[in-house]
Amino acid sequence: MPSKGFTTRNLHSDRAGGPEHGVLHKPVHPSVAYAYDDARELAEVFQGKRQGYAYGRQANPTVAALQQRISAMEDGRASIAFATGMAAIAAVTLTLLKAGDHLISSTFLFGNSNSFFRTLERLGIAVDFVDATRAGAVAEKVRPETRLVFVETIANPVAQVADLEGIGALCRKHGLLYVVDNTMTSPHLYRPKTAGAGLVVNSLTKCIGGHGNALGGAVTDTGCFDWSGFPNILDLYRKGDSGEWGLLQVRKKGLRDMGASLAPEAAHTLAVGSETLPLRMDRACANAMALAGLCAAHPAVAKVYYPGLPDHPQHQRAGKLFSAFGAVFSIDLAPGSDCFDFLNSLEIVLSSSNLGDTRSLGIPVAHTIYFEMGPERRKAMGIGESMLRFSIGIEDQADLLADFSRALDRFRP
Ligand SMILES: *Cc1c(COP(=O)(O)O)cnc(C)c1O
Repeated sequence: MPSKGFTTRNLHSDRAGGPEHGVLHKPVHPSVAYAYDDARELAEVFQGKRQGYAYGRQANPTVAALQQRISAMEDGRASIAFATGMAAIAAVTLTLLKAGDHLISSTFLFGNSNSFFRTLERLGIAVDFVDATRAGAVAEKVRPETRLVFVETIANPVAQVADLEGIGALCRKHGLLYVVDNTMTSPHLYRPKTAGAGLVVNSLTKCIGGHGNALGGAVTDTGCFDWSGFPNILDLYRKGDSGEWGLLQVRKKGLRDMGASLAPEAAHTLAVGSETLPLRMDRACANAMALAGLCAAHPAVAKVYYPGLPDHPQHQRAGKLFSAFGAVFSIDLAPGSDCFDFLNSLEIVLSSSNLGDTRSLGIPVAHTIYFEMGPERRKAMGIGESMLRFSIGIEDQADLLADFSRALDRFRP
């Protein structure tokens, strides 16, 4: 159904290709192993000569249905799901890079991704963190060993918007694998394929699952990258259609051998959640825009970080690339105000670290998710000690505005 819209395709994807018993939802298949009447069939499944399932760490029908949904959302050729978003990022980088390679990423990165790339450095992979809002900053670091560029669409917590198209053009020119983490925008607001990303990573835990009730991650091959020119594909996987080589290696070396597989029960929960992604996201983005505007106009707030505001440095770029500006914004309170007291004074907003939930959540970033990084690196990332990050949910906008207004007035300097 290529001509139908995002929501229609997503809602009807489980019934594409002959649903079991006429079901509307893909069933949850908890079986770990699969038996065949003819043992030769089992061998053929192992050898990839026959489609089928053998052992749950590598493939499961419920998980496969979710993978197809994600591929459709990202307009990709195939996807692999993992137990978490971090598992997807770890599998992609550990299986497609080796010691001696060079990776370029952004200074403005999800804290755990940043920490994980530091682990890659210990394994002999050189990493440069640059200001990804400028493709020129990436270009300056490209060298013969550079294999991969990894950026996020909207970084958190300060909401820098990467030069996604400029970096895409640069990667194409140098034959570099371009990996974009689309978690903050989700495929409803943006498709990294349009900027030439070869692989797209999504934390399904966040906007796609959307209810904070299941962990999951995915990597999608967009079909934009020519794997035949990528030197790190093992001879074992250089067989048949070269368009499949990259994910084949990630599936075998990453999913099968490292084993961070998504559970079928979680896959079902995430698939159901994904059905309302556009509805939730549009409402959450509208709520975030209203609240960011309220905060920006209030003397209790020193600064608001939200790409939807006209004074955000990449406001124009975000408006051009994304269909809305996201559901996450951060604020610096006016000097002298305590970020814990402010968060505690909000009634609807829960003090919690997740994002992309239906509920509005807030967190003092320097003291929690960016604590391990230390004050110097926080400063380099533009993270102040009193910064609060909000992931706005789908509550009634009037209630959220009233809650923030009340709290802000209390902290008027
Ligand atoms: C949360 C997050 C991740 C990691 O996802 P998990 O499912 O929590 O492992 C990766 N990237 C970004 C941008 C995130 O916000």
